[in-house]
Parts: sequence; C-alpha cells; structure tokens
Amino acid sequence: MQGLAPPPVAVPRTLPEALAALSAAGDGAAPLAGGTWIMRAPIRHEAHAPAYVALGRIAELRRIDVADDEVAIGAAVTHAELAKALSPFSDLAALAAAAAGSANPAVRNAATIGGNLCARGFPAADLVPALLCLDAVVEIAEAAAPAGSRRLPVEAFLADPAATGGGRIVTRIVLKRSGLRSVHVRLPLRKAGDYPVAIVSAAIGVGGGGRVESARIAVGSVEAAPRRWTGLEGAINGERLDPARIAALAASLAPEFSGRDGVEAPGWYRVRVLPTLVGRAIAALAAAA
Ligand SMILES: Cc1cc2nc3c(=O)[nH]c(=O)nc-3n(C[C@H](O)[C@H](O)[C@H](O)COP(=O)(O)OP(=O)(O)OC[C@H]3O[C@@H](n4cnc5c(N)ncnc54)[C@H](O)[C@@H]3O)c2cc1C
Repeated sequence: MQGLAPPPVAVPRTLPEALAALSAAGDGAAPLAGGTWIMRAPIRHEAHAPAYVALGRIAELRRIDVADDEVAIGAAVTHAELAKALSPFSDLAALAAAAAGSANPAVRNAATIGGNLCARGFPAADLVPALLCLDAVVEIAEAAAPAGSRRLPVEAFLADPAATGGGRIVTRIVLKRSGLRSVHVRLPLRKAGDYPVAIVSAAIGVGGGGRVESARIAVGSVEAAPRRWTGLEGAINGERLDPARIAALAASLAPEFSGRDGVEAPGWYRVRVLPTLVGRAIAALAAAA
C-alpha cells in the first residue's frame, strides 16, 4: 500500500547513470530534485511515484555558465544559488528576483529551477513567468535516447504534457543575453512563504526616443498555468515607460484573463491586481533606465 513505505530513491552521480536508473526503475519512476513539490503530494491528494531518481549529486546539473551571449543553468541549481549567481546582470534581473523572492530561505536552498519548470499543475511557480519573458530554451535528455538531448522553447515545453515524465530529465535551461532590462514583481497575500496571488515578469526594450520597441510580458498564478500576455505586449509598443499609462492599458486588457479561485485569493481578485503589478513593473524598469 502506498504511503506506508517511502518509495526507493536512486542517487546517481552522472546523467547517463540517472537516465539508466529511471529506465531500470520502470513506469512512473520520476526525477527527484529539491523535493519541495514532491513532499507536498499528499496535501494535493496525489500519489507519490513508485520510485525516484535524485538529481542533486550530478555535477553537470549543478553548473551555471555565464557567457556574453548566453547563460546555461543546470536543472538542479537551487533558487538560492540562482539568485546569487545572476544578481550582477540587469538583463537577467527577472529570473534573479524570481529566485530570490520565492517561498522562504529554507525552501530556496532546496527548490531547483528544473523542479519549478517540471512541477506540472503549479500555477504559482515564480521562475516560470520569468523564463517566459526571457525566452528561455529547455534542454531535455531521454532514457530512450541517452546519447543526445533536444531543445524546446519554454512555451512549447510548457504546452507539451509529454515533455516531462517517461524517462525524461530536464538538464539545462539556456537564456540568450538580450541586453533588455527585465523585472519580476509578485503579490503575496499575507507573508513570505505564501504562494503569490499574481506574478508579472517583463523584459522590455526601449528605443532612443524613450519608447517601447519590444516587450515580452508573462503572468503567473492568475490562471491555471503561467502564460505570455501578448495583448499587452502589442498594446504598449511605441508607448513611453509611463507606469500609470501602461497600468491603464493593462486594466483595459485584464478581462483577457480568467482568474482561478484558490485558497490564497478568488479568481476575480487575481485579475483585479494585475494592472497594479504591471504599473510596479514598469516603474521599476523606468527607474533602472
Ligand atoms: C511552503 C512552500 C512554499 C513555496 N512557495 C513557492 C513560491 O512562492 N514560488 C515558487 O516558485 N516556489 C515555491 N515553492 C517551491 C516549489 O515547490 C519549487 O519552486 C518547485 O516547484 C519544485 O522544485 P523542486 O526542486 O523542489 O522539485 P521536486 O519537488 O523535486 O520535483 C517537482 C516535479 O518536477 C519533476 N522534476 C524535478 N526536476 C526535474 C528535472 N530536472 N527533469 C524532469 N523532471 C523533474 C519531479 O519529478 C516532480 O514531478 C514553495 C515550496 C514550499 C514547500
């Protein structure tokens, strides 16, 4: 009977060993990263996997490689490690802030970027909207094809239920250095450690005339899954970084969202706070410009 004995956990030292262990453990075996989502499975009335393969001892999944043109982040890098490593880079500020502000210090020391992306059914994942606005690419290795890996844009990864599970391990998240400034703002209802009510991440390029030339804006925790706000991206093209004006545009477009009811807040409230969060995001970008 599930729940009496904990599932077995393999602790490989290399990626090929991890893929082999997943394969050997059979159907339903799953990677175990920080365990902060997995440990709450009973609260969500979900069964644990029959077996787990831990990723924390695999050195290549713990690396962060920062180059001038791109950054590659190993899937087992923790939120705390990510926040520290990315803090000097203004183009990656959205991801650094998302990692620095999620949950609480103890969770941030355990939870990983790969776990954040792969925790399907987690609407309030902080790093996901930041990765959407930074146009991340997700690298995946498969037990069925251990020699290579494939890459998927993060939006395609999130839309494909078959991108995780079935012997797959997310190995790295790759970000092109765009030079755009980025920002991440979130509204927790009561205190640090709560899941946020709503999240806005944005990467915005401003031209010489001070007007928006490119925008990628993502929203988390409002609907069942984080997503880009393409309507607002288009509407602010050519606008100045004026927080009140852009918040007003966000208010006119907010009905594009259908808020989810949850223990932290009702759906209508999540949608209602979005323009305020957008205004805060724009104010932060304007102040940094
Ligand atoms: C009280 C509390 C509050 C929290 N609040 C927040 C918050 O506000 N914002 C936030 O972002 N996070 C929050 N978290 C943390 C959240 O659980 C993690 O951010 C994340 O979603 C899970 O990361 P993990 O490394 O612990 O993954 P795990 O729990 O180890 O795994 C999660 C899922 O992903 C799969 N998986 C993990 N790594 C991989 C991989 N490399 N390849 C393929 N599949 C993989 C696992 O099999 C599992 O299905 C909170 C956690 C707690 C306990």
